[in-house]
Amino acid sequence: MLTQYVQMRDEVEAQLPNALLLFQCGDFYETFGEDAERLSRLLGIALTHKSSRDFSTPMAGIPLRTLDNNVERLLQAGVRVAVADQIEEPGGALVDRKVTQLLTPGTVTEERHLTADENYLAAVATGDGYALALLDISTGEFRCAAFHTRSVLYDELGRWRAREVLLAPELAGNAALMADFQARFPAMLSPGNFEEAAARFELNTVLGEVPGTLNNAALVRACGAVLGYARATQQGRLEMVRRVLRFEPGAHMRLPDAAARALEIFAPQAPQGMTLMDVLSETRTAGGRRRLRAWLRAPLLDELSVRARLDAVETLTRAADLRGAVRALLYRAHDLERLAARVATRRATPREVASLARTLDLLPDAARLLDGHEGLLGGVRARVNGLPEVVLQIRAALVEDPPMRAGDGGLIREGFHSELDKLKAEALAHREWIAMLELSERERTGIGSLKVGFNNVFGYFLEVTSAHLGKVPPDYRQIATLKDRARFTRPDLRDHEREIARLEGAAGRLEQEVFTDLRDGLAMHADALLEAAGAAADLDVLSALAEIAVERGWTRPETVSGFANIVQARHPVVEQSARGRFVPNDALLDDSRHTLLLTGPNMAGKSTYLRTVALCALLHQIGSFVPADRAELPVYDAIHTRIGASDDLAGGRSTFMVEMSELAAILHAATPRSLIILDEVGRGTSTLDGLAIAQAALEHLHSTRAHTLFATHYFELTRLETDHPGLINLHVAAEEDADAGSLTFYHQVIPGAARQSYGVEVARLAGLPAPVTARAARLLTALNTQGDDQKLTRELATLDLSRLTPMQALEVLHGWQRAL
Ligand code: ADP
Repeated sequence: MLTQYVQMRDEVEAQLPNALLLFQCGDFYETFGEDAERLSRLLGIALTHKSSRDFSTPMAGIPLRTLDNNVERLLQAGVRVAVADQIEEPGGALVDRKVTQLLTPGTVTEERHLTADENYLAAVATGDGYALALLDISTGEFRCAAFHTRSVLYDELGRWRAREVLLAPELAGNAALMADFQARFPAMLSPGNFEEAAARFELNTVLGEVPGTLNNAALVRACGAVLGYARATQQGRLEMVRRVLRFEPGAHMRLPDAAARALEIFAPQAPQGMTLMDVLSETRTAGGRRRLRAWLRAPLLDELSVRARLDAVETLTRAADLRGAVRALLYRAHDLERLAARVATRRATPREVASLARTLDLLPDAARLLDGHEGLLGGVRARVNGLPEVVLQIRAALVEDPPMRAGDGGLIREGFHSELDKLKAEALAHREWIAMLELSERERTGIGSLKVGFNNVFGYFLEVTSAHLGKVPPDYRQIATLKDRARFTRPDLRDHEREIARLEGAAGRLEQEVFTDLRDGLAMHADALLEAAGAAADLDVLSALAEIAVERGWTRPETVSGFANIVQARHPVVEQSARGRFVPNDALLDDSRHTLLLTGPNMAGKSTYLRTVALCALLHQIGSFVPADRAELPVYDAIHTRIGASDDLAGGRSTFMVEMSELAAILHAATPRSLIILDEVGRGTSTLDGLAIAQAALEHLHSTRAHTLFATHYFELTRLETDHPGLINLHVAAEEDADAGSLTFYHQVIPGAARQSYGVEVARLAGLPAPVTARAARLLTALNTQGDDQKLTRELATLDLSRLTPMQALEVLHGWQRAL
């Protein structure tokens, strides 16, 4: 057995390097050697040893029935898994085994390992710039892009949240890049075959051609690598992949991963926190939910498209009946996209095919509801319509509620297939004969208690209690004797039984064949199914956004150019938890005020204000209404944020280093059409360093004329307003009651700089002991004077006396005196 294991281990290694092989031995999946050590470490299970006279190897195993759970945990931990099952009943000799599943985080398709969200496998190659390919095997969505910088690569991988990434050798061989990469992405890195000839072969095999859009070698290699890897794990089945969609990263608003994280779009920063996705989750279908995520990941840049979505949402906000009807309909829909993919790969179960029909059956109603609509809704109407022939086809063939598996029989409707009906009718006739036997034999033998029974060992039998054994006729043959009765059979009973088995066996096989034909026929409609699924997903998102807008009193933003004016804006997430206690604020950004410098004590609401503005801009560009009384917004080319000091412990980079590299990326990328949100820049280092960096960064951003919101506790920066036109001071209102030693926050953003930074007051508020805060207050005063002294000393040291006239010298002296 171990010889068989070692051989299989080598084969798996060749197909899927580093995979863990789970090897069925009776009721357990066992691992040996290094695999056993890995498994015991990963799952925290006991490590034993398998020993014989001349060798010993570590061994660890999991019970058969825990496979799903444990595979799930292994995938989560980023481990590839191969499962080898016994494929024959254990007899005396060595049992034959076969690798039945290759599982990796990016290529699982079984419902039980998938979340309802998307599941991307990515591949990256270089050549003339970078090429990225992305494949979601569960839906067949396949896209690729070519671009020139590594920062776009990081943006896109973050945007699509690839669970598994294949890196071409030229990248995987670059140690510095690998380190950077692994620090940024929790995704699992896997090797793929990036040879161009192999890639062309894969593309030809799966798509029937090398599409013309793949116009450089890097694109071909990335796309081919993804397909090759996916095909290997899917045992060759990739029929759900119909085409590759080339997209332009520049076609969407830039939303770097750091911004998506800081704005808590998909993942909260505090473990129990709410995300934007949470508060937008009013979609009714899994496909709609995935579509909403896609929209959030890739906000639009094109004003007309933004308007088109907003028009559709607005229509749905006004027509409450239409919205209600659409949403009620979608509520009954199954995951059409995934069903279509299951059909295309010929994996769909009878039950899945039946849910496909039920879901498709809803679509004409959806189309009717949208009759007479134009724009996006009209487009949805045109795309969801159709496929009634598919429904008819399925309905004609399948029973209403078919069983889970095709092998269980009883799935084809009567009247659909004459030969099948004939087989079933004949089998039924034999069953009826047996059913009648009990009555006729009671009559013939005069044994009133005679019974016909059935069990798995003997099949059908006639049962007579001991008292009547004397009356048993000679054509009965005894097959079993129990304590108080005996069981018999008769040659003709055996004949009927054999016929039933034969006919029902044939019927079962035929049913399976008929079902397979039906499913293969449906696979032809895969493109149309995916189209309809896409339209349904669009409709779901649009109606969800409308529902939210109505329920929460959001307003339609007007798309303008060059300025932003949001009246009474609220934070979409915080307003949910604040329940009516949220204080709305205005935001105005234009040429005369493109850099807003926000001061105010900690906890006053600075971050919340910054994020409110960014989230309104983001919502506008996915085509959603925004949480405000009125809003005019431009189309931003990017939202960049640098918020708070977050440790990147996993990446091993210091807080300050992370902060500075994010800041660097922002300063490089900012354009006059970008929205930049910076919160507490320079916090991670000493005060003077931090202040210097914050000021330099602020001055730089001011010069780019990007719309910048800059919150800071460096009170000194407020002076910049005087000689930087376009830079405006704002602060968040707070009131200090010196006697009570308390601070009241009003969360209201008002013009002008804050009076002071209130750090000590907030510390007092947080419960620092009174002697400590008193001491801090004294130290602060001392430090402030010291600061003045230092400034004087510095100025004196740098004063160029050789170029100073006596008059100027007097002026300087005068200035110093005034400052003291
Ligand atoms: P800062 O950045 O100034 O330290 P935050 O923005 O983190 O302050 O806000 C501090 C707290 O005040 C948060 O718990 C937040 O929920 C609450 N808050 C902020 N802004 C508002 C507002 N406009 N209305 C109501 N509560 C708010």
